[in-house]
Parts: sequence; C-alpha cells; structure tokens
Amino acid sequence: MNNFEYKQASNIKDAVSQVAASEHTTFIAGGTNLIDLWKYNITHPAELIDINHLIELSGILEMEGGGLRLGAAVKNADTAYHPVVEQKYPLLSKAILAGASAQIRNMATNGGNLLQRTRCYYFYDPEVPCNKRNPGSGCPAKDGYNRMHAILGTSEQCIAVFPSDMCVALAALNAMVNVSGPEGTRAIPFKEFHRLPGDRPDLDNNLKENELITSVDLPEKGFNKNYSYLKLRDRHSYAFALVSVATALELDGTIIREARIALGGVAHQPWRSVEAEKFLEGKTATAENFSMAADLILQGAKGFGDNDFKIQLAKKAIIRNCLMALRPETQLPGAQPAA
Ligand code: SF4
Repeated sequence: MNNFEYKQASNIKDAVSQVAASEHTTFIAGGTNLIDLWKYNITHPAELIDINHLIELSGILEMEGGGLRLGAAVKNADTAYHPVVEQKYPLLSKAILAGASAQIRNMATNGGNLLQRTRCYYFYDPEVPCNKRNPGSGCPAKDGYNRMHAILGTSEQCIAVFPSDMCVALAALNAMVNVSGPEGTRAIPFKEFHRLPGDRPDLDNNLKENELITSVDLPEKGFNKNYSYLKLRDRHSYAFALVSVATALELDGTIIREARIALGGVAHQPWRSVEAEKFLEGKTATAENFSMAADLILQGAKGFGDNDFKIQLAKKAIIRNCLMALRPETQLPGAQPAA
C-alpha cells in the first residue's frame, strides 16, 4: 500500500468538492472493498475523504407518503436488522444477511455495497491483462477459468459479474439511488444504476465523476407477504453467489397480480426480465408457469465453459425460489427450504 492522506469531510458538499479537487482522492466509508483493492494494488488513492460520520448520510427514515430512506453510510447489518426493514422489506433483510460475513456486514455501508467491484480473479491480479482494470489489455476469463462468471449481458470485452446480494433485492424492490455531485443532486432508478460491460467494462455503474451516493429509497410496496431470497454458492457462508434469486410476488389467492424476479451472480448487474414478469401476471402460481418465466429470463444465456452449469442452476433456482415465495415461512431462521 502507498502512503496517503486522511481527512474527514464536514458535509456532503465539502466531501464532493474535496474528491473533485484531485483524481487521486476518493471517498471512504466502510472500506471493506476499497482496502482489498488497495492491498491487491488495483487502486492507489493518495487521499481519503472519510464520510462515515456525516449526519446527512446516516439514519433510516420513514418517508412522507410511504417508503423508507436508507442512509448511504448506514452499515449493512444495521439496515438488515432495522425493525421497519425486517417487517416491511424482509426480502432486503434476507438478502443482506446472505452476503459476506457478520464482521463485514458490521462494517460495510449501504452506499459501498452498491459500489463494490467484481470478484473476477483476473481483475485482482495486476500481473495479468484485464479490460476492466486496464482497458484494451484483454479478457483472460473468456478462455480461462470462468466458473464464477456471467451468462447474461456479457460483451467481447468482459464477462464479469456484479457480486452483491443486497442489490439483487434492491433491484426487485425498484429502489431509487439518491446521489450528490458537483452538478447538484439527482435520483437514479435502480435498474439504471449498474451497467452492462459493453465496450466500457472499466465502468461498473452510471455515476458521474465525483458523485456521492447519499441514500437509497425503498418504495412503499415491500412485498412482505410473498417473498424469498435464495443464494446458491460453493460454501454456506462467506462466499459469493454462483446464482442468487430475489422473488417478490403479489398474489390474489393463487393468481399472480405482480411478480418481480431479480437474479444475482449471472451478469454485470442485477438481472431482471420485464417480459418474464409480465408473463406471470394473471397466471396461476405453479411450478410450470415459473418454469416458463425462467426460460424467458434466461433467453440468450451463454456459458463460457466452466460456468455452463449456471444456466441450468439458474433455471432451477428461479423455480425453487418462486415456490418458496409462496411459503414465506420457509424464510424464517432455521426453517427448511421448500422441496
Ligand atoms: Fe477483467 Fe472482466 Fe475479463 Fe474479468 S471478465 S478478466 S474483470 S475483463
């Protein structure tokens, strides 16, 4: 690690202007991914602007007219165990608690969770080419070891996946990301926040330069009756998803009024299919219909060798998780998943 300066920002405006003043200055909140990137010599900031203590970024507030605002500097664990999140947005709570380890969740922040970078092995090895780390250098993952990599939305330049669990639930809930930057504030719909690699795999999201995430808004509708988060991984804990699924259903008896299905571990962003969700509207909640929706979600899925298995795994995970959403009691600690 290189030597660096450490400063605390006095407010959001100060934080943004300090980071905008030098390309080698960056925000630090939980630092759980930043320190990894730094140790692996992927990033080398000369100055850190600490935003942890900023009152504007803290707290979880119920909004007028419904909905919940999650401060960007609130820790992931505090978000997951917040009583309103647990009661009204249990899908989010469940997804957060599936991520990382208790120690990391105690340190990582909501804003940082959205900004974590891929866990592609080649990206973390500065000795090998990588288009995300060094644009134009190549992508060894395509013909290399790609068990963890994407099956949807890939490009010639990059097949990396976005590793968050929390963001898969935020995508399903249609969250909104509030940011502040040199040009003022704006709100970004969650589906537009992360991007596909295309020909700019170095860009993970659509934040403009020096913009800071200030909060994430959850809409009033929390789908707290029929929801499920399923994460399939190599280890039971402290492992990134091979495939994860967030399902939120609104039911009228056995008829689906609204369906939201988001996948993690399969693309450079949480993956949703409007076509599949529309297909389910008005249909009976059966394994057959969920299977047809899964086929729509996975249209165009393509493996690269080691990760070919993810296509079948994702299909089975979608069907199983949608069935689990019909029985949300299976989400309780210690409960057995649906067969
Ligand atoms: Fe780099 Fe993306 Fe290829 Fe991984 S998949 S080596 S991050 S370009």
